[in-house]
Amino acid sequence: MTIKQNKVAILAGEGLPDYSQITAKQIEEHIPSLLKELSSRFNRLENQIEEELKSKNSFTWDNLMTPLHEIGERLRWSWGVVGHLNGVCNSAELRDVYASQQPEIIRFYNLVGQSKSLYKALSKLNELNRNSLNNVQHRIIEAELLSMRQRGVGLESKKKEKFNSNSERLAELSTQFSNNVLDATKEWSLLLTNKCDLEGIPNRVLEVLANSAKNSKDYSYTIGNEPTSEKGPWLLGLDMPTYISIITYAKNRSLREQIYKAYISRASSGRTNNKKIIEEILTLRGNQANLLGYKSWADVSLANKMAKDIHEVEALLEELRTASIIAARKEIKQLQQVAIKHKAEEGKQLKPWDINYWSEIVKQERFRLNQEMLRPWFPLPQVLKGLFSLSERLFSISIKPAHEDYPKWHKDVQLFNVLDSNGFKLASFYLDPYSRPATKRSGAWMDECLIKDSSNKNNNINPVAYLICNQTPPVGNTPSLMSFEEVETLFHEFGHGLQHMLTTIDYPQAAGINNVEWDAVELPSQFMENWCLDPLTIKDIAKHWETGDPLPEEELEKLKLNQTFNSGLSTLRQIHFALTDIRLHSQWDKSHGVTPDELRRELAKTTTVIQPIPEDQFLCAFSHIFAGGYAAGYYSYKWAEVLSADAYSAFEEIDKNNENKLKKLGLRFRETILSLGGSKHPSEIYESFRGRPANTKALIRHLGL
Ligand SMILES: [Zn+2]
Repeated sequence: MTIKQNKVAILAGEGLPDYSQITAKQIEEHIPSLLKELSSRFNRLENQIEEELKSKNSFTWDNLMTPLHEIGERLRWSWGVVGHLNGVCNSAELRDVYASQQPEIIRFYNLVGQSKSLYKALSKLNELNRNSLNNVQHRIIEAELLSMRQRGVGLESKKKEKFNSNSERLAELSTQFSNNVLDATKEWSLLLTNKCDLEGIPNRVLEVLANSAKNSKDYSYTIGNEPTSEKGPWLLGLDMPTYISIITYAKNRSLREQIYKAYISRASSGRTNNKKIIEEILTLRGNQANLLGYKSWADVSLANKMAKDIHEVEALLEELRTASIIAARKEIKQLQQVAIKHKAEEGKQLKPWDINYWSEIVKQERFRLNQEMLRPWFPLPQVLKGLFSLSERLFSISIKPAHEDYPKWHKDVQLFNVLDSNGFKLASFYLDPYSRPATKRSGAWMDECLIKDSSNKNNNINPVAYLICNQTPPVGNTPSLMSFEEVETLFHEFGHGLQHMLTTIDYPQAAGINNVEWDAVELPSQFMENWCLDPLTIKDIAKHWETGDPLPEEELEKLKLNQTFNSGLSTLRQIHFALTDIRLHSQWDKSHGVTPDELRRELAKTTTVIQPIPEDQFLCAFSHIFAGGYAAGYYSYKWAEVLSADAYSAFEEIDKNNENKLKKLGLRFRETILSLGGSKHPSEIYESFRGRPANTKALIRHLGL
């Protein structure tokens, strides 16, 4: 792969980006001019379209879709690099320039997405070329048309004005919502000076809490009297790691109660109250849906999902609910019995702030799993070796580190090539495995660097993926020793990467993850996670980094037990969220006189075991649906899990030690789910792999319900 030599790296537009040359200053200088250039290119295209519409209507793929794609791809390439660098080598300058350019980028997408003449031309192209375009091309055009309709292209001027002003207001409200959650989270703190209040909290957490006290502006300490993990004081906040540690490990029940109540009531009163915002968001979304001709926002959301309609979503959730509620009730009973055995007052009545604490105790009594102790068995190089050999066995590909010269954004980043069974290069991926808290966003993700494009036979583009993780870095001669969870995360992202890289679709608009309904997009990633506990695979990935010893059998058993521990409660929790989300976006209406919170409490009667307490204002911090992209889409987590578990069960049905059978089935997975991307409806692709539609049986079995 050659690096395109362009004086301005951010504008190269093709090949691997020259990361080291791209600076905040360069972005600030050149993104506006790029947008200007693309806007005028789009205007020219619009003018040509207008002419065509007046005369012959002779729209073709080449005179419409190709130039449109070129414009979009030019921006995706450049702005994609900016987004990527913002995530992996963040700096104050980069963040500022990203934020300052973003509104213009959105404006450009709106300009294209709301172009009436483009919409007309695409419709004509779709209608008039029924026979000359293939099914993939039709599906791409239809997805484009739907997305334009949902952006309001079809509205006449008065309605469009309303629609656009609603959109702006909704964007504002989302930002306010998430700022309120952030502020409410930051506002709360608790200084503890007595160590016995913190009994049970692991030492590494005490260190963090003492450090928070030390760095807090609200308290000052004389020299020699600074907080230590031993002597305190300790400052508690509502950030996720602190909250989880306290609620899981604190023996002190009233401390757990205090932090639970603070956490669950975030952003529900005072300056940061989100209640009114929630009502306004739901009302506006309902209005937007009506303007677009839909009954509810849930219908808007489901119009481009794999799930056909609300009924199908609710039916799936109901199947999982009935399976999990019995298990969840049993799990609660077990926790209570253990509390009784320990002669704890919780034995009388278990409260919401007791669940995590007693779960941890039951877990330790039942199978003493210490995840930290297992790290030496999962050194990154070994895990990669095992992952690559699994890919070879399943999908007949081999993965080799790239030896050619290639650009990178950090010295720890590595490029790998993916070869087919004849040694022919299909794709590549960057792996950026280690956490760098100061400059790298947390979490893990797969992103597209280059998208496969074989539509131009003279300029075939191989796909390149970014796989980004945030795992423990190596120290001295010790390699990165991964937790089992980090191993699962790597497999997950690699699964997304496989779909991006092994696509056989020539049109970039439907290659890899493009044009895939997003309740189906987590299928390959969650599918790969299943392999982490496959006996042959774990043998390959788990070898002690110093002795080469395999993972002891009993530790493997513990990992398996951990997989299904309290799965009734955790499944039910997800169902409660998903159902609340779908009902709020399909049934709630201010005029009915029921608040969103009341609607949620009604649902809680059948989707929780311990009813929410009055302080529980969980909706006020449900950022996924009020400040993120999951509105009427939270069910997607479970939907994709059903698909991935059912797909994996096809492999459980064969003898996995029979290499021939494994290869045959693996190839079928590759040739359908990994190859076909967004070229067909996901149900069709799924059925061509499985020979039937997916069902919930495998997931219910995997969860031990
Ligand atoms: Zn994912």
